Amino acid sequence: MQQLVFATHNKHKLDEVCKIFQGQYNIIGLDQLHCFTDIPETGVTLQENALQKATFIANKYNVDCFADDTGLEVDALNGAPGVYSARYAGEHCTFDDNINKLLSALDGVTQRTARFKTVIALIQRNVPVQYFYGTIEGIILTERQGDGGFGYDPIFQPLGYSCSFAQLSMEEKNRISHRGLAIAALRKYLIR
Ligand code: IMP
Repeated sequence: MQQLVFATHNKHKLDEVCKIFQGQYNIIGLDQLHCFTDIPETGVTLQENALQKATFIANKYNVDCFADDTGLEVDALNGAPGVYSARYAGEHCTFDDNINKLLSALDGVTQRTARFKTVIALIQRNVPVQYFYGTIEGIILTERQGDGGFGYDPIFQPLGYSCSFAQLSMEEKNRISHRGLAIAALRKYLIR
């Protein structure tokens, strides 16, 4: 089976993606590559960050690889936290800190529409960089619901659902999520 590196340290994301490529590609994460470096993410757009991460790994290890970058855009906050979603509550904050900060920022706000956006950059030797995109619309709940998933999952309710991302099975989340859609586009490109 062909191997492809997913430039992430996030076990949840790796599990999601391995499941999607099961039996078709051997997806390995950075830990399996013995890369424990914090890859620089200094871009001001999701696309810049995805490219920066994929380039760093492709150059350092001479492998085919892809990287993703995701942001949660909240309309009432003019698109924040956006590209800064991981560090919304500060440099070394936890997922819980981010959720608390977002719930506080939206305290009393009724207009709670938001979306997750993912950009994937794929680098393969001798092929121009390819980008893949995925978006899911939804709302920010007023309190946490469920304990699955990661990040903002307990407070994000996808459009058309009456539960949070944290209450969906991994299969269901993958089918509709920002990253699931971007990965589906990547998969369609790779498995032609
Ligand atoms: P990353 O670029 O994929 O690392 O995502 C940046 C931040 O967005 C993460 O630290 C999470 O807080 C959040 N995030 C990304 N994907 C998801 C998701 O599927 N559910 C909930 N939060 C997410």
